[in-house]
Amino acid sequence: MALTWGETDAVDVIVVGAGFAGLTTARELVKVGRSVTVVEARDRVGGRVLSHTTAGGLVLDVGGQWTGPGQDRIIALAEEMGVESFPTYGGDKTHIDYANDQRVLYKGALPEGDPAVYAEVFQAIMTLTQMSEEVPLDAPWTAPHAREWDAQTMQGWMDANLTLEGAKSRMALAIEAVYAVEPHDLSLLHMLFYAKSGNGLLTLVSTEGGAQQDRFDGGAQSVAIRVAEQLGERVRLSSPVRRITQDANGVDVEGDDFSVRGWRCVVTVPPALAGRIEYRPAMPALRDQLTQRAPMGSVIKVQVVYETPFWREEGLSGRVVSDTGPVRITFDNTPRAGSPGVLVTFIEGGDGRRYSCASTAERRLAVVGCMTRYFGPRASEPAEYVERDWCAEEYSRGCYGAVFPAGTWVSCGSAIREPVGRIHWAGTETATVNAGYIDGAVRSGERVAAELLATLANNS
Ligand SMILES: Cc1cc2nc3c(=O)[nH]c(=O)nc-3n(C[C@H](O)[C@H](O)[C@H](O)COP(=O)(O)OP(=O)(O)OC[C@H]3O[C@@H](n4cnc5c(N)ncnc54)[C@H](O)[C@@H]3O)c2cc1C
Repeated sequence: MALTWGETDAVDVIVVGAGFAGLTTARELVKVGRSVTVVEARDRVGGRVLSHTTAGGLVLDVGGQWTGPGQDRIIALAEEMGVESFPTYGGDKTHIDYANDQRVLYKGALPEGDPAVYAEVFQAIMTLTQMSEEVPLDAPWTAPHAREWDAQTMQGWMDANLTLEGAKSRMALAIEAVYAVEPHDLSLLHMLFYAKSGNGLLTLVSTEGGAQQDRFDGGAQSVAIRVAEQLGERVRLSSPVRRITQDANGVDVEGDDFSVRGWRCVVTVPPALAGRIEYRPAMPALRDQLTQRAPMGSVIKVQVVYETPFWREEGLSGRVVSDTGPVRITFDNTPRAGSPGVLVTFIEGGDGRRYSCASTAERRLAVVGCMTRYFGPRASEPAEYVERDWCAEEYSRGCYGAVFPAGTWVSCGSAIREPVGRIHWAGTETATVNAGYIDGAVRSGERVAAELLATLANNS
């Protein structure tokens, strides 16, 4: 049934949010003949995935971009949409480990700056991987040590288990790179859940064989755009949802200038944003408490564009790990064609919040200064500078995803996917596999679509 915007004719399902979770939900339901309306706050689809075209005509992923082994659902979706992927540059090249004002060059997966430091870090990762084995992905709060682990922060665990300052600094860098928060902001239980969900911390920090292995040709958002094209007028942009009201017969989803009625509704926005929507009747206590205790990480993604990837001439991969900020990690993000040269970095956690308060000129100065320290004087004169502060985005309010501080999983975690009447929940934060990643978002859409179809089958 065609739905005219502003009318209150019921559709089967209203989906809030046109990120990968919302688009997948809609796609799965439409495939089996259900009527769907997707309401999206922004004037575009893709959510935390955005491919931006620069003044020079270069397409850059300013949000999520990488996939890797085990991220099967996004890989399958991209293949179906005809979007090709290609490997991240530089696995067989030389990387830079910058610590104590020294630039140490190395090859292979693990930095070699100080062997004792990296031995301790590697041992810590192995211990954490073993601990994570006991965390059930669908119910982390039921793990045998859930209370003990959710009562401490990752920083507490590092203080108790790492002896070398260098090891603590490198471990903190790994945590910030994956979770976009500092270790003191992160529950140990959440750290373990998330790492296991993504096939282990080693997979999450790795490029070849890991979560940064491949990129999408033409940008990751092109996958979302093609799904949205197939959904056509079912996707309504520039329509922030303000209130969701449910009664015995259906659910009304309302914005400033629209109202749409459905049998069921799926909210695919992260918990912190879901908590900003008004619900009638009000959310149960546990669900609302969850949304109060699941803040987003802090990330500014920055890309510095050069005429050529000049570091390649020196055999460098473009990858840096550094103990000195704000640029503490870099990758070569040059397009598949090989030109122009692009270095990408992420200003994360506390640095992300601090630099969010600075001006673009100040951030640019700091970032280009770091690039010059790592790659030499040729890095000091970029052709373009592109940044995206995800904390400042009204409809994300941070990234990469929600990060549970101490206590959240054990006190409120059971509300994460539990439907409330006619309202169901999706989004990467609800995923059990690859939570926090694009793949997790796709999986959450597939899961909630199956959940809805079971419910609709019973009701129709
Ligand atoms: C800088 C950055 C780098 C990342 N890197 C990677 C990576 O390399 N690989 C990877 O797999 N993942 C990465 N991620 C994470 C990945 O992008 C997310 O996990 C994924 O896109 C989440 O999808 P989602 O559909 O669950 O949520 P979202 O993409 O957040 O979708 C939710 C949608 O809801 C909309 N919305 C919000 N509020 C409302 C409202 N009130 N009414 C209507 N609509 C609303 C939003 O605009 C958005 O479109 C990165 C993220 C960022 C920001």
